[in-house]
Amino acid sequence: MKKLKSYYGSFGGQFVPETLYKPLKELERAFGDAAKSAAFKKDLSRLLADYAGRPTPLYYAERLSSFHGRRIYLKREDLNHTGSHKINNALGQILLARRMGKKRIIAETGAGQHGVAVATAAALFGMKCVVYMGTVDMERQAVNVARMKLLGTEVVPVVNGDATLKEAVSEAIRDWISDPSGTYYIIGSCVGPHPYPLMVRFFQSVIGDETKRQIRQKENRLPDYLVACVGGGSNSIGFFHPFYKSSVKFIGVEAGGMGGSPENTAASICYGSPGVLHGAYSYLLQSREGQILETHSVAAGLDYPSVGPEHSFYHQSGRAEYVSVSDRDALKAFERLSTLEGIIPALESSHALAYLSRLAPKTKKNALICVCLSGRGDKDMAIEGSLARGLKK
Ligand SMILES: *Cc1c(COP(=O)(O)O)cnc(C)c1O
Repeated sequence: MKKLKSYYGSFGGQFVPETLYKPLKELERAFGDAAKSAAFKKDLSRLLADYAGRPTPLYYAERLSSFHGRRIYLKREDLNHTGSHKINNALGQILLARRMGKKRIIAETGAGQHGVAVATAAALFGMKCVVYMGTVDMERQAVNVARMKLLGTEVVPVVNGDATLKEAVSEAIRDWISDPSGTYYIIGSCVGPHPYPLMVRFFQSVIGDETKRQIRQKENRLPDYLVACVGGGSNSIGFFHPFYKSSVKFIGVEAGGMGGSPENTAASICYGSPGVLHGAYSYLLQSREGQILETHSVAAGLDYPSVGPEHSFYHQSGRAEYVSVSDRDALKAFERLSTLEGIIPALESSHALAYLSRLAPKTKKNALICVCLSGRGDKDMAIEGSLARGLKK
């Protein structure tokens, strides 16, 4: 088999302990075969259609459009089973795990959306599942913890450091190192060592592929802009990549948090510099000594100090523009979409929506903008209530 590309420009690679090198090679081979297998693709498209509910609609948001004065479409990933785009990747990777004969699934989770998606897929396939989650996240996303447990997954609390997503990833990697032959690790974003960023992009590209078809049908042309929030970068890379060779402009919106200094944000490209974390060379939030900073975002799913290596490459090459949006503006957009369209967005997706206020005035009057609505906001109700009161003071 032809070797799959492990670098995007100078970013990516496999910065892992030697014990993981062989399992990664095995994974790379299995993925390369699966991606070419007609049977695998058929199983996956059946699951995406009948179980996850794809294709998701591309919705013309009329009242939001008149608010911003530009034509705005929303790619409704919030309508997927389990409430976000995470299920696209979870189903793809669990099919791969089954194909590889693995019996035990592990994952990490931040907002709990990836954990829930994996717990769901594991229940569906009758596999044992363990999810690592920081205790801070367990508290702010308690409903998702309850969902995972109901689905038969063991949720392991991680207390180290920040007790959020970064530590959960580290624990999951440790678990995998202890049993690489029996265990399959489903990473939730396009981060980690090769081949994960490539695999996750492959499974999430269904978002952009559908959008391309749908916008051609509705508008008879491609959009001018694609806007998506960037945590690890999976909903955005899946949205962007199928348009890579077109002239459509890509805008990745990072979590600006409270702003001011890097550790008050989770905006790895806007506030960070290149380094190595969790097996890949990419932009990260680090001190001058190379220690990873604690991060902050109101959106648990964006609260990660690095970003997928392909985004670092898009940034370096100028193919995409990366901006950041504050907690406060994200909360405003959260309320705006709810009242204007009757859609409660995830706080993560609200970052992409918030950027429309800055983008729309800079564009041509007839500009066509597609926003990836990565998930629904039911999980964020408690946070919105308590934080909105504080931030509005
Ligand atoms: C996990 C999550 C994100 C952030 O992850 P990406 O890998 O950047 O897509 C964004 N939105 C929602 C709803 C999520 O659950």
